Amino acid sequence: MIQSRSGEPQLIDSHGRVLRDLRISITDRCNFRCVYCLPETEEAANFYRSRFQSAAGTSIRVPASPIHREWKPKAELLTFEEIERIARVAVGLGIEKLRVTGGEPLLRNGVESLVARLAAIRGVRDLAMTTNGFFFAGKAVALQSAGLQRISFSLDSLDPINFKKMTGSDGLTGVLDGIDLARRMGFDPVKVNAVVIRGLNDHEIEGLASFAQERSLIFRFIEFMPLDSNRAWQKDLVVPGREILARLKTRFDLTPVDSSTNPSETAKRWRFADGRGEIGIIAPVTEPFCGHCNRLRLTADGKIRTCLFSIHEHDLRPLLRADATDDDLREELLRIVVHKEAGHRIGKPDFVQPARTMSCIGG
Ligand code: SAM
Ligand code: SF4
Repeated sequence: MIQSRSGEPQLIDSHGRVLRDLRISITDRCNFRCVYCLPETEEAANFYRSRFQSAAGTSIRVPASPIHREWKPKAELLTFEEIERIARVAVGLGIEKLRVTGGEPLLRNGVESLVARLAAIRGVRDLAMTTNGFFFAGKAVALQSAGLQRISFSLDSLDPINFKKMTGSDGLTGVLDGIDLARRMGFDPVKVNAVVIRGLNDHEIEGLASFAQERSLIFRFIEFMPLDSNRAWQKDLVVPGREILARLKTRFDLTPVDSSTNPSETAKRWRFADGRGEIGIIAPVTEPFCGHCNRLRLTADGKIRTCLFSIHEHDLRPLLRADATDDDLREELLRIVVHKEAGHRIGKPDFVQPARTMSCIGG
C-alpha cells in the first residue's frame, strides 16, 4: 500500500492512479444560464433549435426536454463544518489541491469563512476557486485574506451580445473588471476558461487569445462536454482542441510548455513567444486524459464522484450526520476511490450522460 509522508494510506484506485485533487462544489445554484451548462434561456433554446435543424437536414430533431431541476434544499447541503471535515480527512490521505466550485460558489453565504477553514488544513498545497466572476469584486479582498491562492474565471466571449447569448447574463463588464482586479491583487496565476462551441463563440478564439496575451493570463480553451442540463450536446458542436490550436498557431507565435513534471495536467499548454501569458487546450472529448486523472469530486449535497461522468455516486452525508468517526470516513474514501472509472465513454455506443449536470457536479 502506498503511504503518505505522514504514514497514512493514499487514495489510490484500481488503475494505480493516486488522487491528489479534490473539487468541492458548495452549491448547485447559479445566477448564470450558460448555454453549455444550464441552457434555460430563450436564446439558448433558439441556438440549439437552429443547430438541430441544420444537423438533421429536412427532418427536425427536437432537443430532449430539460431535466427537471430544483435547487437542493439548504438542509441537504453540507455545512462548512462538514465540508472542512471531509477535506481534512482527504488531505490526510494525500489530497494536496482543493478547488472550491459550484454552481456559482460566490452565491453561498459566507464562502470566505469556508475558504479560511480549508486554508487552515495542514497539507493543503493549493487552494483555488472557479467562478463566473459576477460577484468577485465584492468578495475579492475577503477571499484573499481568508487564504485563497488562485482563482479561475469563466469567460466565453468578449462581445456583450454574444456573452449574453452564452451566459444569459449582461455581466460581461463586471467579469472583465473582476479579472483585472484579481491581477492587481496579485492572485497568481489568474486563469480564465472558455468553453468553445461551434457556431456560437468559435469566431472569438483569436480575440480571446489576444485578450490573454495583453493581460498575461493563463487562458484555457475547453471542449464542450455532454454535461448540459438540456442534454442537447452534439458532437458537431465540439470544436476539437487540434482545430483550436491550428487556428491559434497561424496567428500567434507559440512555444510549447513542458508539463512532464505534472503528469496529471489536463491542458496542453503553449506560451506566447513574447512571454506574456499562455494558452492551454483542454480536450476531454477528442483527446481524453483519463489515464492520468487524479481528481475526486464532492457535490454540494455530500456525494463523492470519482469521475465527471460517473453514473454512481457515494453518499457521505448519512455518515457525517450519524456518528461516524474520522476513521470511518477515511475507510469509506479509501473504499470508494478503488472503483474510480478507467475513463469516460463519450462517443462510445454505451455512453450514458450522467443524471447530474455540470452545475451540480462542479467543474
Ligand atoms: N460557476 C462557476 C464557473 O462557471 O466558473 C463554477 C462552476 S462551472 C460548472 C465550472 C467550469 O465548468 C466552468 O469553467 C465552465 O465553463 C465549465 N463547464 C460547465 N459546463 C461545461 C460543459 N458542458 N463542457 C465543458 N465545460 C463546462
Ligand atoms: Fe453557472 Fe458556471 Fe454553469 Fe455557467 S458554467 S451556468 S456560471 S455553474
